[in-house]
Amino acid sequence: MKNFAYVRASSVKEAVQQGSNPGALFIAGGTNLVDRMKVFLDEPAQLIDITRLEMTQIEQTGAGLRIGALVSNTAVADHPDVRRNYPMLSRAILLGASQQIRNVATVGGNLLQRTRCPYYYDNAFACNKRVPGSGCAALTGINRIHALFGASDQCIAVHPSDMCVPLAALDAIVEVEGPQGKRQIPFTEFHRLPGDTPQRDSNLEPGELITAVVLPPASFAKSSVYLKLRDRASYAFALVSVAAAVEMAGNQIKTARLAMGGMAHKPWRFVEAETFLSGKSATAETFQQAAKIALQGAKPLAHNSFKVELAQRAIRRALAVSAKGGGVA
Ligand SMILES: Cc1cc2nc3c(=O)[nH]c(=O)nc-3n(C[C@H](O)[C@H](O)[C@H](O)COP(=O)(O)OP(=O)(O)OC[C@H]3O[C@@H](n4cnc5c(N)ncnc54)[C@H](O)[C@@H]3O)c2cc1C
Ligand code: SF4
Repeated sequence: MKNFAYVRASSVKEAVQQGSNPGALFIAGGTNLVDRMKVFLDEPAQLIDITRLEMTQIEQTGAGLRIGALVSNTAVADHPDVRRNYPMLSRAILLGASQQIRNVATVGGNLLQRTRCPYYYDNAFACNKRVPGSGCAALTGINRIHALFGASDQCIAVHPSDMCVPLAALDAIVEVEGPQGKRQIPFTEFHRLPGDTPQRDSNLEPGELITAVVLPPASFAKSSVYLKLRDRASYAFALVSVAAAVEMAGNQIKTARLAMGGMAHKPWRFVEAETFLSGKSATAETFQQAAKIALQGAKPLAHNSFKVELAQRAIRRALAVSAKGGGVA
């Protein structure tokens, strides 16, 4: 590891001030950042430890539930309001990593964990995310875990987070504070598509600190599910995952939400399929059509066309379980 300066911030203001220094990075749980530092992916000049900041509460507000950026993944998943009102969020977190990692990993860090594209982690290969302009080994390499939507000729990586998929479906809001003050970012605008700057994963500006994530009230979310499909049953990132919610009014679908992981450089929301579902009967045929609509713009690569069928089957199953009140899909 390269030498770096270390400072423990005692206030958000101090963290933001220090965060603007060249080469500075915030460290929360460290479960992704330290791994990246060990293989020289990140070589910060300064680490700003934010773990003592007052961002550790989950509070009910008029606008919904406000989750501090330093709340552990475990505490979010176990919180009674999250389990009762946003079950797909609780389930998504519990299907990620391991209990030990979830106990340490934080909300802010989960949003900013980086792709698990194997070429990104291996210095022997070209990677535009690691070294801008160097090329993308995944384009011509093994790309079975890579994107079906929103990729560019510079990068075809997917965002790895489970937690972020329901947050996209829930229209969550990310609160940040930076050198220019405070601002709120709608969740679906927080992460970026790769375009020709794949080295940037989010729309955070230099020095900006995530302070909280806000979940708006969402009656539809009570009947929701998170379905994660992966190469082995535990301790693996998703090949595809679905966050689905269906609120019924009698026999008709009143509101539907659909987002997926393993699809793109960011959690991918299927608004067209949601609109199609609204007002329809909750039948197998309706769900099949919704899944078809969702995947119609998919652009498979050499090794990941299996994900198109897998995603459609996952959507059908997740919607069917949500329409019956949610639970485990
Ligand atoms: C073996 C293993 C398996 C895993 N499996 C899964 C899985 O299946 N699903 C899944 O979703 N995740 C998985 N993870 C990832 C894990 O969830 C993340 O590592 C974790 O959420 C990151 O949180 P952290 O607090 O440790 O972040 P850190 O490692 O401290 O930071 C990560 C990044 O976020 C930045 N950062 C942190 N907090 C803030 C903030 N408040 N404001 C601005 N920037 C900030 C840091 O500068 C850094 O760049 C796995 C991790 C490991 C090691
Ligand atoms: S897909 Fe993205 S992260 Fe993976 S090698 Fe290509 S540029 Fe790097």
